[in-house]
Amino acid sequence: MFHTLDTHLLRSSERAAEPAFVILNMSESDRTYDVAVCGGGPAGIAASVAAARTGAEVILIERYGFLGGMATAGLVNPFMTFFAGSEQIVKGIFQEIIDRLSAKGGWGGPREKWAFDPELLKVTADEICLESGVKLLLHSFVCGADVRRARIASIKVFAKPAPRNIKAKVFVDATGDADLAHLAWVPCEKGRPGDGLTQPMTLNFRVAGVNIERMPPREEINRLYLAARDQGRINCPRDNVLFFFTTREGEVHFNTTRVIKVDGTSARDLTAAEIEGRRQMKQICDFLRTDVPGFEKSYLTAAGTQIGVRETRRIVGQYVLTAEDVLSAAKFHDCVARGSYPIDIHDPDAGGTVIKHLPPGESYDIPYRCLVPLNVSNLLVAGRPISATHEAHSSLRVMPIAFATGQAAGTAAALCARWNISPRDLDVRRLQQELLDQGASLSKSAVALDFKGG
Ligand SMILES: Cc1cc2nc3c(=O)[nH]c(=O)nc-3n(C[C@H](O)[C@H](O)[C@H](O)COP(=O)(O)OP(=O)(O)OC[C@H]3O[C@@H](n4cnc5c(N)ncnc54)[C@H](O)[C@@H]3O)c2cc1C
Repeated sequence: MFHTLDTHLLRSSERAAEPAFVILNMSESDRTYDVAVCGGGPAGIAASVAAARTGAEVILIERYGFLGGMATAGLVNPFMTFFAGSEQIVKGIFQEIIDRLSAKGGWGGPREKWAFDPELLKVTADEICLESGVKLLLHSFVCGADVRRARIASIKVFAKPAPRNIKAKVFVDATGDADLAHLAWVPCEKGRPGDGLTQPMTLNFRVAGVNIERMPPREEINRLYLAARDQGRINCPRDNVLFFFTTREGEVHFNTTRVIKVDGTSARDLTAAEIEGRRQMKQICDFLRTDVPGFEKSYLTAAGTQIGVRETRRIVGQYVLTAEDVLSAAKFHDCVARGSYPIDIHDPDAGGTVIKHLPPGESYDIPYRCLVPLNVSNLLVAGRPISATHEAHSSLRVMPIAFATGQAAGTAAALCARWNISPRDLDVRRLQQELLDQGASLSKSAVALDFKGG
């Protein structure tokens, strides 16, 4: 069926000369890039910028008309922790994004220091990519892979006016769903052991016009919410109201809707989830206005362009990060990124949330091997779907860590393209040195192990 659509589009495109786009001249699409990054969320932004700054010719392919992934399209906010105690453990391109947001007035709020403005993040992401020399191809969906002898020869991208193939020496899958890895036959896992259910989806939304001084404590808001739920005015499985403040006075961000037992790699499930998320959002907005002091004059200002998807596929890579690694703050000789966010599993089939913290002030290492998939020789994976168990994934999925693994994957991809080697054969000490030179944060033990004088 897809073949028919494809053929039809290709035929129509033969009739007209392709227009030259500002960002990517389509006549260039026959060339072989050094690095093609698929997906422009936190991981993909960092991967493409890092790869371009390491000297690679880079194309970044994103399905939406803007970058940011869950941070913009999913309206996810704020950035979760990037500190272990007083030590900042995610720096590099992530810090540069913060600095650029800050310069635009899009960083930090009166009540939430790590809140950011999603519209200004879109602008910032465009800027940092274009200034670094990344070629952007927006409105383009990666939907196929031509794999020959365990190597991706090209990917198929569904992009107007016609589908096209894009060739690169090395590919980075930053789709959040491991779409390219899956298309290239990399083994992937999904959800928790036993039933394969993934964390629930959430449609994030914001209301403004709130008199924040009059808001009751969180416990009281939860009590009111549960009372309204008992009365049948709210039909949402989540057992409490999760909210954050934003960069704007009088605005509150809700991460409270919950759609369970849906699969983010199925358009059918996503369709049902979007509709259910909006239904819950409307009920919660009505409840806030009628039941919660301070919200009487509140109004809905924004909802995610898409429902937020916490978990889908995870690749099986050369190393699988585990809950024990996270909770014991494990250190690895091939550390390329770090995390300190707890294990945070929103119950896949109910209303609660399981949180398990690392020891205070501690962080864990993410090994390079978690970015290197089995079976395919010219692919790296960044962000949410790197190789980890369901539990470890629930920690490393947050945005600062996605930026960090993206920076590592992009840098690695550029080095592999430069030296014509497979990511499997990359000398990780060279990668670590490059990352340190870019201002990334690696754990002291990894640095001490690999470099004279640390
Ligand atoms: C409801 C919710 C609340 C969260 N809360 C927080 C929080 O408070 N703080 C925090 O730090 N993190 C939070 N997270 C986690 C975080 O937002 C994500 O895990 C993180 O954004 C993952 O980054 P990524 O780059 O790997 O993937 P994504 O952000 O999902 O980006 C993937 C990108 O790839 C694109 N894409 C996907 N498939 C294709 C394709 N086939 N072709 C082309 N493009 C494609 C997408 O459009 C997107 O731009 C939350 C997530 C959710 C869902």
